[in-house]
Amino acid sequence: MPELPEVEITARRLDAALRGAIIESALAPGINALKTFDPPLSALEGRSIISVGRRGKQFVIAFTGDLVLLVHLMSAGRLQLYDKRAGPRDRTSRLLLRIADPDHPARELRLREFGTKQAAWVKLLPADAIDEEELIATLGPEAWPQPPEDLKPLLKAARPLHTLLRDQRVIAGIGRSWVDEILWTARLSPFKRGNDLSDDEALALREAIATVLDGAIEHYEKVIVLPIPDKLPLPLLVHRKAGEPCPRCGATIEAVHYEDYVMCYCPAEQTAGKVLKDRRLSRLLK
Ligand SMILES: [Zn+2]
Repeated sequence: MPELPEVEITARRLDAALRGAIIESALAPGINALKTFDPPLSALEGRSIISVGRRGKQFVIAFTGDLVLLVHLMSAGRLQLYDKRAGPRDRTSRLLLRIADPDHPARELRLREFGTKQAAWVKLLPADAIDEEELIATLGPEAWPQPPEDLKPLLKAARPLHTLLRDQRVIAGIGRSWVDEILWTARLSPFKRGNDLSDDEALALREAIATVLDGAIEHYEKVIVLPIPDKLPLPLLVHRKAGEPCPRCGATIEAVHYEDYVMCYCPAEQTAGKVLKDRRLSRLLK
């Protein structure tokens, strides 16, 4: 589940390795991966990479000739750089950009996807069309490196913080893993309503967004190298730690299970000792 820190470190590593690299060929073996047809993918051949960047949780790869690739990993995609080309039977390949580089004769930037779903996608766009692309046009302000100065107007809705902070139209970059870490760091209940935040709580939340995402990226700076591992070592303290002691106060971390994810929190520090109803259990008991 790549979120802002995972996409940021990947973009940094790829940018350092690929600036100026010339595309020899571009292929989209996934059935549904390429969502645009004009310009065709072959338009990338012979062009070089200007930069690999990030907008929210998406990659933006800029090419000479005013073209950009927008890459959305969805829940199980990875963008990886190999010095060996994918075999024809590699079922994980969604997009292959082969690099013409005499020093790395088989270099290939690969969008791979794990699991059975084909959800990751790519759009090849004229550079000036990227800001009008709906996903980009509707992104909220970036959560990092500078979270918005005043979070209160941004979060002014009668929706739980756990939902609001993951809404990319409200603030860009945070997902299911890092939201748990951020709310725990700020000592805020995941179910507190956005429009219920005091000034101090909004400040604590802003601080938590900055320190948690900074910390994750600093950690990745030390441990992540190309080709970019299939599984990134997320330095999590609370998320997916249900049943373990809270690293700050020792209380048992609790979880609420949803259909396809789990939310974790420290009841002693975040919900005034209250254990929230586990929806999975209550549904089973109905
Ligand atoms: Zn605690």
